[in-house]
Amino acid sequence: MSSNIAQNYPYSSESDAERLGAVARATEADATLAARIAAESIPVGNEPRWWVWKCPNPGCTGLLHAAGFARNAHAVYAVCDGCAKTLLR
Ligand SMILES: [Zn+2]
Repeated sequence: MSSNIAQNYPYSSESDAERLGAVARATEADATLAARIAAESIPVGNEPRWWVWKCPNPGCTGLLHAAGFARNAHAVYAVCDGCAKTLLR
């Protein structure tokens, strides 16, 4: 199994409150991140549980949290709480 595929499997899940807290911490740590999320995604709906993914960035031990839905793709717009990288999942 390639590591690329493995990285797309959810690592865990979290409640909507946990998701909001993680995204808030990530945007507080990176001043440009909130603007990027607003420009590139639309707010997510009211889901009780959300997937969490491991960040594929080498050397980063952070987790990816859903910050919205991508404007231009049918994908979850996820943000890393470690390196503030954004990825589609
Ligand atoms: Zn990361």
